[in-house]
Amino acid sequence: MNTTLSLLKPTGHLTLGNLLGALRPMALAQDGSDCFYGVCDLHALTVAQDPARLRASVREVATLLLAAGLERSTLFIQSHVPSHSELAYLLESTAYVGELNRMIQFKEKGRGQPSTRASLFTYPTLMAADILLYRPTQVPVGEDQRQHVELTRDLAIRFNATYGPVFTVPELVRPALGARVMDLADPSSKMGKSHADGSGIIYLLDSPDVIRRKVARAVTDSDTGSDAVRRDPVNKPGVTNLIELLEAAGGSLESITTYGALKTATTEVVVELLRPLQVRYAELAQHPDHVQARYAAGAARCREVTAPVLLDAQAAMGIG
Ligand code: ATP
Ligand code: MG
Repeated sequence: MNTTLSLLKPTGHLTLGNLLGALRPMALAQDGSDCFYGVCDLHALTVAQDPARLRASVREVATLLLAAGLERSTLFIQSHVPSHSELAYLLESTAYVGELNRMIQFKEKGRGQPSTRASLFTYPTLMAADILLYRPTQVPVGEDQRQHVELTRDLAIRFNATYGPVFTVPELVRPALGARVMDLADPSSKMGKSHADGSGIIYLLDSPDVIRRKVARAVTDSDTGSDAVRRDPVNKPGVTNLIELLEAAGGSLESITTYGALKTATTEVVVELLRPLQVRYAELAQHPDHVQARYAAGAARCREVTAPVLLDAQAAMGIG
């Protein structure tokens, strides 16, 4: 059976974009592959976090993964599996400053700023460890993480050539096609959980009233023609986003001719899509012990699965 691996950063409340673009494909992958899904709290530390908020965010994301139907997977919290940071250090000791310096995300988010955390610079090696520890043969990757996964391959190839064949070099593949949801208030940018202005972002735990209000205020345009409700990503990004959201959430455009009707229908399907998830979340939130036990068992399995890979890497390098 092939191995599927995916990590979510606990850097805010999860959004409808995360559900349709990530959690839904992750749930589907459970058929036919051994899935490891983690909350990557260590990656969150590459920028300043309030400790109490980080803890709350980890708990919320962990509970949401269960509520979103990932219960057939091995669920874990990254910092509970120490081999991730141990292997990251070994990989840091094979990576070159030059190649880390070329990472686009580092260039855009931190290079040249004196108070950028060192971990923002080295985190691609932690990400490489996250992947290589589980020996997946394929890694589905979207555009924004492509360069990091290519680096993962380079590090694995270099390690194997220098120290002996320890790592499986994963192949990059296209991700299962999830929807891409844009910000309702700014349809030129992705709906992202860490954006400061949440007015155009639907969070998974938003109440029906809040969802209604956010969709009602979604940016459209002043087109009043009989064919105003149509896809046109270039000239009508807001309307296009609402149509795609409506359809991704299970609705249909049939007989919808006005923006008002489009917004009402979109609100309805989104509220219905989120209802069972929110009910399940509320139940799980009443039983934190159950959630904790699931993640403790998941971390135990991760420690077991990753231990031989770490040991092999250590032995090959002459330590451990
Ligand atoms: P951040 O603002 O911190 O980057 P994010 O919401 O973009 O947060 P990520 O942690 O970057 O979330 O990504 C988690 C997963 O959710 C990834 O698989 C990513 O492709 C997916 N995802 C994030 N936002 C969207 C979106 N708007 N539409 C579809 N998929 C999304
Ligand atoms: Mg993102």
